[in-house]
Amino acid sequence: MELGELVGRRPFPAAGLLLGLTRRCPLSCAHCSTGSDMTVRERPDAGDLVRFVSSFTPDDRPDVLMLTGGEPLLLPGLVERLSVLAHRAGSRTALLSGMFFARSRHIPAPLLRAITGVDHFSASLDVHHEREVGRADVFRALHRIRDAGVAVSFHLTGTGASDPYLADLTRAVEEEFGGQVPSLVNEIRPFGRAAAWAGPARSAPDAGAVSPCAMAAWPVVAFDGTVLACCNQDTVDLRPAPAHLRLGHIATDDWAAIRRRALESPVLRLIRTVGPSRLAAMSGRLPRGGSYCDGCRALGGDARVAATAGAVAAGPAGALLDLAAARQGAAGGAEGVVRRHGCAAYAPLVVTGATGAAGPDGAARGGAR
Ligand code: SF4
Ligand code: SF4
Repeated sequence: MELGELVGRRPFPAAGLLLGLTRRCPLSCAHCSTGSDMTVRERPDAGDLVRFVSSFTPDDRPDVLMLTGGEPLLLPGLVERLSVLAHRAGSRTALLSGMFFARSRHIPAPLLRAITGVDHFSASLDVHHEREVGRADVFRALHRIRDAGVAVSFHLTGTGASDPYLADLTRAVEEEFGGQVPSLVNEIRPFGRAAAWAGPARSAPDAGAVSPCAMAAWPVVAFDGTVLACCNQDTVDLRPAPAHLRLGHIATDDWAAIRRRALESPVLRLIRTVGPSRLAAMSGRLPRGGSYCDGCRALGGDARVAATAGAVAAGPAGALLDLAAARQGAAGGAEGVVRRHGCAAYAPLVVTGATGAAGPDGAARGGAR
């Protein structure tokens, strides 16, 4: 499974499941959204995870199971097991790693088994990761993984289109891999350790403005096993979870129940189609300060919001509205998705062999593609 296919499914509700295997990580990057290092211990119960992924069926499963962390490869046996279970139901699996193991010249056998068991492997790389693991080491490890037959990509972050580091890194990736390895390029968001120094979170749009949330599409399994409707890290970590964004728990729910709640909640449908600010205004709530996501989290438990959403987005009409919004979000394929939600200047790199991809200065970049 190539990166473009994975990213192209991102706008479709419940087409994927993001699963945080552990908050732990041998690295401690300055921008880490999950605040990971080796001192933290939170992780979902392995038995609950196995039961939950075993509840996928050929008729009711996510298309993609995305294994994240922390560092999921701290648990290679569990990665391998969950991949096998997901594959049995017809789901495909992807894994995002911080590449701690690349510091050594050889990939330990249990890790290589886990990696070759997934359908897509993505390596995080940016200025903060490079302080922990060298670029040349990451490149060497990724060649090894690619040679083993796994589809690979990079997950790169920077400060934006004019970031000279991003220009250098993307050029280096293209030169090293002949333009055959795609990259998802994002801008650093102010979560976790980055909250102390990155730019402000997305501010709330004008009261009542239509500003759909695209992040409420794939359910997320948090480190305590709670399943949330979106991947905003502050929301994933917040307890108690806002009622309208809590889909359940892997200890007590199966995939079918989680998927049904994600797809059928009228409040979530309206968050995905018109956004939390518009939903608040439709419900007669007075505008409040704070970020876009602060406004969304505050909607939980408001009976007027639930009543408004129920009147507008319940039933087949609401489902159609949701599907139309997802199709709109998927317009332009994976490149369109990154243009809207990632670093637009580098959107062409999400597709393998993006010949002639333009750099942030608009100049066509060459390279042996
Ligand atoms: S590799 Fe990822 S999870 Fe680990 S500290 Fe760095 S950003 Fe956080
Ligand atoms: S707007 Fe709501 S659903 Fe969307 S990312 Fe923010 S908190 Fe999550």
